[in-house]
Amino acid sequence: MAFEYAPAPESRAIVDIKPSYGLFINGEFVDGTGTSFKTVNPANEEVLAEVAEASDADVDEAVKAARRAYTRVWSRMSGAERAKYLYRIARIIQERGRELAVLESIDNGKPIKESRDVDVPIVAAHFFYYAGWADKLQYSGYGSTPLGVAGQVIPWNFPLLMLAWKIAPALACGNTVVLKPAETTPLTALLFAEICQQADLPPGVVNIVTGAGDTGRAIVSHPDVDKVAFTGSTEVGKAIARTVAGTDKKVTLELGGKAANIVFDDAPIDQAVEGIVDGIFFNQGHVCCAGSRLLVQESVADEVLERLKRRMSTLRMGDPLDKNTDVGAINSGEQLMRIRELSQVGDAEGAERWEVACDLPTKGFWFPPTIFTGVSQAHRIAREEIFGPVLSVLTFRTPSEAIEKANNTPFGLSAGVWTDKGSRILSMANRLRAGVVWANTFNKFDPTSPFGGYKESGYGREGGRHGLEGYLKGADS
Ligand code: NAP
Ligand code: MG
Repeated sequence: MAFEYAPAPESRAIVDIKPSYGLFINGEFVDGTGTSFKTVNPANEEVLAEVAEASDADVDEAVKAARRAYTRVWSRMSGAERAKYLYRIARIIQERGRELAVLESIDNGKPIKESRDVDVPIVAAHFFYYAGWADKLQYSGYGSTPLGVAGQVIPWNFPLLMLAWKIAPALACGNTVVLKPAETTPLTALLFAEICQQADLPPGVVNIVTGAGDTGRAIVSHPDVDKVAFTGSTEVGKAIARTVAGTDKKVTLELGGKAANIVFDDAPIDQAVEGIVDGIFFNQGHVCCAGSRLLVQESVADEVLERLKRRMSTLRMGDPLDKNTDVGAINSGEQLMRIRELSQVGDAEGAERWEVACDLPTKGFWFPPTIFTGVSQAHRIAREEIFGPVLSVLTFRTPSEAIEKANNTPFGLSAGVWTDKGSRILSMANRLRAGVVWANTFNKFDPTSPFGGYKESGYGREGGRHGLEGYLKGADS
């Protein structure tokens, strides 16, 4: 039975989007010497603001400010003092949580219930967690000596969350930061810069330089950057690895994924269906660890697919600011094109497409939740990251076949296992080549838990005690 809900939009009155933004260097917003670009609301293509594009000279200024702050202030401060700033930032994030969530949904296109209930709370939790480490680094196992200036480049799918994953451990360990948000989602990073001012963070400890790929390149190749932390595509990650090869820079790379979500015939099917939906349609599937390959045991495949389609038909798609919305807008026209192209490859390869029948808004960038059945391992839709709300379904008969198929990928970021048997969970987790394995759940994040990949999904860990390693010189120095 079809029924309608009244719209329940969150008010955007709480955010104050300025017509134009400069760069945040040495504690102040400055004009920059480069050109500018526009950021849009992907749900309706409204231009939100004009944002400065940092030139090489601007990046150089930011790195100099970070170096000064590092040498004169931040690396000399006790861990307990640094922690006070991190706790203050964490509390301000909580206080301004609604503002951050609304702005994130406007600039990124993700549903408000996700930015409000997932992204922003985990961002605050990350700062609280690493604040706790700042005065306990001698117990980290990685020494307590910071590296210096960290150059950090992040993608558009979790703009604030990726910022928190980068900035919180860097500052806790005594490093200073130059960070570039993605071109399509700069606004919450700029609001975070205001929060740094509000927290009285010493100038230069955090610098935010907006721009596109060239600005990112200028950061990672800058000779006075000691550490490069990157989250994004495997292709750009490889280019960065080449750039820093032969230098003293320490590098962590969080790259793409093609996670298997494995459903055994003894799994609680309704719960598994929720996990499949969460695995691939959370954040429109713009998730590096998305469960984009469903591996379902042959004996329950028909039942799982039938219930999955029924559940997908209840997903509400539309205005990201509406509190009822489950699936929001695709982040950019460019990303929408990539999703369309790879899906068409799926059609051409002979897989069968099924999508939710729904009216898509006429403006903005939208793609309906979609599944492909009849997918084989050789298909490109089973091998390449689609980074959108598109699920490829494969089947298996035995646990060994599931392992073989799950590991048959150049990536190794995450995996999910759905079964009633604890012993099977443990044996699967041991044999899956993935940095994170979720059991009877999916896409759960906690600041205490390390996250990262194998193989082409990158190297280094973010989160937890392990996340400190990338920002410290090591136990022996
Ligand atoms: P991307 O194109 O690699 O961009 C990531 C960031 O790097 C952006 O800020 C981008 O700038 C910048 N950049 C582009 N070219 C660069 C270069 N040559 N040197 C330095 N920086 C450069 O990736 P994306 O399309 O935005 O993000 C999607 C990808 O990120 C997916 O593959 C996804 O799996 C991965 N991801 C991984 C994780 C993880 O934790 N493993 C988390 C989230 C996303 P502009 O975009 O502004 O041009
Ligand atoms: Mg935008």
